[in-house]
Amino acid sequence: MHDMRETGSISDRLSEKGYRLTPQRLMILSAMESSHDHISAEEIYAQVAAKYPNVNISTVYRTLELLKKLGMVYEIDLGEGRIRYHAEGSGHHHHLVCQDCGDVVDIDESALSSLKDILLRDYNFRAELRHVAIFGFCEKCRKKQSGGGGKK
Ligand SMILES: [Zn+2]
Ligand SMILES: [Zn+2]
Repeated sequence: MHDMRETGSISDRLSEKGYRLTPQRLMILSAMESSHDHISAEEIYAQVAAKYPNVNISTVYRTLELLKKLGMVYEIDLGEGRIRYHAEGSGHHHHLVCQDCGDVVDIDESALSSLKDILLRDYNFRAELRHVAIFGFCEKCRKKQSGGGGKK
C-alpha cells in the first residue's frame, strides 16, 4: 500500500514537471513498483519488452537517467558489475553485501547515523548517505573461511 502510493506519485510528479507519460515510461515505473527489491535495467527491459517488443533498452536507460536526475530513483552498485535501482518511495536504507556469497542484507538508515555525526564533527563534511552498500563477509562465509570448525 505504501509502495503503491509512493510510486503513483512518481508518475504524478513526472507529469507535473511536464514529462509525457508514455506507455514505455509507465511500464518502467510499474516494473520498479512491482519489484520489492532492487531491479536492474536489464530486468526492467525484460518486463517492458514482454509487452512492447519494439522497445529499445536505451529507452530504459534514458528513462532511468531521467528519474535519477529528478531524484525519483536511487541507484546502487551491489558489486555484481551492474547497477540496480529502486524507487525513492521505498525509503532510505543501506545494504550489507557479502563479497563471498553475494548475500544482501538491508539495514536501517539510522545504522549509519553515528558515522554521519563523526564525519561532520571530525571532517566538517555533511555526508549524504541515502543508499550505501557496505562490503564484507557474512557470518556463514566467515565460518567457512575459518575452516568450518570451531577455530577463530
Ligand atoms: Zn536499496
Ligand atoms: Zn556470505
